[in-house]
Amino acid sequence: MIMGDVELAGEGAGTRLRAWIGRWELWSGPRGVPAVFLIVEGLAAAVAVMALLRSNYETTEFVRFGSLLGLAFLQAELSRSVERLRRSICDRPHINMTSVWTFAGVLVLPPGLAVTLGLLVYLHLWLRVWRGMSHRPAYRVVYCAAAIVLSCLASGAIVTGWNGLPVGFTGSLRIVEAAAVFTAANAVIVALSVYLHTGGRSLRSLFGTSDDNLLEVTTLVLGTSTALGVVHAPALVPFVLLPVLVLHRSVLVRQLEIAANIDGKTGVLNAHAWHLLGERELTSAAREKSTLGVLMLDLDHFKQVNDVYGHLAGDAVLKVVATTISQHVRDYDSVGRFGGEEFVVLLPGATEKEVIPVAERVRRAVMAIEVEVPAAAGPRIVRGLSVSIGVAVYPKGGMVLERLLHVADSALYQAKNNGRNRVVSLAAA
Ligand code: GH3
Ligand code: MG
Ligand code: MG
Repeated sequence: MIMGDVELAGEGAGTRLRAWIGRWELWSGPRGVPAVFLIVEGLAAAVAVMALLRSNYETTEFVRFGSLLGLAFLQAELSRSVERLRRSICDRPHINMTSVWTFAGVLVLPPGLAVTLGLLVYLHLWLRVWRGMSHRPAYRVVYCAAAIVLSCLASGAIVTGWNGLPVGFTGSLRIVEAAAVFTAANAVIVALSVYLHTGGRSLRSLFGTSDDNLLEVTTLVLGTSTALGVVHAPALVPFVLLPVLVLHRSVLVRQLEIAANIDGKTGVLNAHAWHLLGERELTSAAREKSTLGVLMLDLDHFKQVNDVYGHLAGDAVLKVVATTISQHVRDYDSVGRFGGEEFVVLLPGATEKEVIPVAERVRRAVMAIEVEVPAAAGPRIVRGLSVSIGVAVYPKGGMVLERLLHVADSALYQAKNNGRNRVVSLAAA
């Protein structure tokens, strides 16, 4: 009897475990995500355990570990509201201040403690700041933790064996190398996830903006100063908190500036920012005797998308359309949303002959869009979209921005009247 009960209980636990694993959101991630994520996370777990078992720990190292952990917690608590605001206005791969403490740990702690520090700092931030802000599947949180483990250990391998902190010119070079490996390992692991989830191929979408990367380098510089302080002047280390807190705030200000120019729904420029940029590009086109293309786009029968799938689904479609337009123009072309389902594109230096093929490429790309949207009876696919596009080119189409927009708008009106899903340039007519 007892044996039977034990067996039943065991079986129950096994079934529950299998059911729990079966419910993981990881399995419904985009193609390639389950395999890649399990490999990266498994690798990180294996090397983290090896690092923990292999390290020899001394009292000084525990003291250093405790100081770095305490400062990291204090900094996270003091800048909680700044970090929450940053998170709420920016959902791109998000560089944060943790590298200051994690990289200092890489330089002054044995690998096992460095990894533990990185994980605890991340866990604390997640529990105190990020959790509950936006739904982020658990598997992505675990993946970020794996990225921390792998970048700590990869960069740590360059400075281990120096017994403390590398010194002299060669030592400084080692620190620079370690910082480069730390950044590169983290960037590649994060880029892999971005690629699998969004299919983004541009350097900016995979590896972040130059501002993001500058911030990452700055945190590593502060991390190096912290490590030097920990070894040579421990009493001064708490002062590192000041530049970290100020830097964090200034990054928030910069993000707010950027957010003021961005259309929240679609991520492209808002009408005001696009106009300002348009005026600037027109001035430089006039100065350099160059050309400037303007596309005005309006989705066809978009009201039907809202009517059939709902307004929220319509919003999701608008975001994909904006991304698609951006992906099919050059990096230095500027996409804006004029409101509703109307977009505009600025193409500096493009001639009439060049602008029409670009508009055609965008039109075809919009036709190929398929967006999965949630519905009461399960997800549905929105497809069969089309867009009408009006074209105007400076100087032939107008000498001032308002005139160019007016000409592009008239061309768009004609595209609608001629049956929609087409590109019209009045100049070419
Ligand atoms: P067409 O342009 O081909 O003449 O037809 P349309 O149905 O697209 O008509 P129109 O451009 O005049 O109307 C735009 C519709 O787009 C009205 C509204 O239902 C929808 N729309 C405008 N702004 C938004 C938005 O922010 N989100 C969503 N979901 N729908 C919007
Ligand atoms: Mg429309
Ligand atoms: Mg419209």
